[in-house]
Amino acid sequence: MTSANSNLFDDLGLDRVINGRSWVTILGGSRMVPEVSQAMYDAADTFIDFNELNKRAGERIAEYTGAEAGLVVSGASGGLLMQAAACMAGSDPDLIVQLPDTTGMKNEILIHDKHRFGYEICYRTSGAKLKQWGTGEEPLSEQLRSSIDEQTAAVAYVFGPWLSCELSLEEVVVIARERDVPVLVDGAAMLPPAENLRRYIAEGADMVTFSGGKGVRGPQSTGILAGRADLIEAARLNMSPHAGVGRTSKVAKEEIAGLLVALERFVSMDHEEEWAIWRQWSETIVTAGKDISGLKSVIEDGDPNRQGPTAVFYFDENWDGPPSSVIQERLAAGSTPIHVGTGSYADELYVSPVALEPGEAEVVAEALRAEFLSNN
Ligand SMILES: *Cc1c(COP(=O)(O)O)cnc(C)c1O
Repeated sequence: MTSANSNLFDDLGLDRVINGRSWVTILGGSRMVPEVSQAMYDAADTFIDFNELNKRAGERIAEYTGAEAGLVVSGASGGLLMQAAACMAGSDPDLIVQLPDTTGMKNEILIHDKHRFGYEICYRTSGAKLKQWGTGEEPLSEQLRSSIDEQTAAVAYVFGPWLSCELSLEEVVVIARERDVPVLVDGAAMLPPAENLRRYIAEGADMVTFSGGKGVRGPQSTGILAGRADLIEAARLNMSPHAGVGRTSKVAKEEIAGLLVALERFVSMDHEEEWAIWRQWSETIVTAGKDISGLKSVIEDGDPNRQGPTAVFYFDENWDGPPSSVIQERLAAGSTPIHVGTGSYADELYVSPVALEPGEAEVVAEALRAEFLSNN
């Protein structure tokens, strides 16, 4: 690799790492394909009317999602912030500049006990307060109904690994609609599968956000927001280039360009073919645990808690080596640093193939095997 960026990272003294943890921000997100980089390059030195740009981009997003309108936002986290701001301040210019002071506005977002997650801080950044529901004794639908009151600005619904609510999105939508309260979906990491682009809107969500820099492989700083026209317009007015709470969540013209090209590729590509390659790489990696006492090595394919067909190593009571976290640290400290995941289920180590390049699965398998054997 001799691109300018690679050289800059070398100049900065940074090691290249092998990313077996999927599209995580902490390792740099996803890998942009050349046509996305090219679109960013082409857009970078051109002036346009930014408001018009994001409206036109939104029309494309609306087509891909089946929503009335769309907007490019700064990551799904920017999407969450804009969802909250739109539901509280709407398009009112005075209220927009009043946020995050929510005096006089509906300012509570209902969130189910099992949907509490780290990124909920993005909702609170707008000034909104989170109100938890779902821990009572009554049926969940009744609990949701009685949690909605005069202060309820919206109901949040989060899709993600290890987050589950027994009341489906569709059931939540029915109840929220009785009281005219919008339902906000976070589907940040739910792409692929591409069907999810349309799914939550079809199920009645008023707004949904996705990351642009995870499985869509657009610029890492981008996100997709789609939904009801009035709410999307409100979101647009609350964010950059306007001076609302979303001014700090700026997206640049070249990022919008890159995201649109990435999305176009994402909706038209052959996902089956890509999945088959990922499965093959996982099959290579899973051989690292073959015939080692105390290890169960499997491929988990289609598990909604996993990104792509994932090689998973479970440690049982016969395992007498170090804990998975130590193996994880050793791999990351190797001469070719390899990052793998641990700990979603109790004692496990996993490798997601989605961010690997050809040839890396073999390197990962060999390094993992050496770690497993050195302790056995
Ligand atoms: C990744 C993620 C986010 C944040 O998305 P960014 O695009 O990185 O801002 C929010 N919610 C969930 C469930 C996520 O997985």
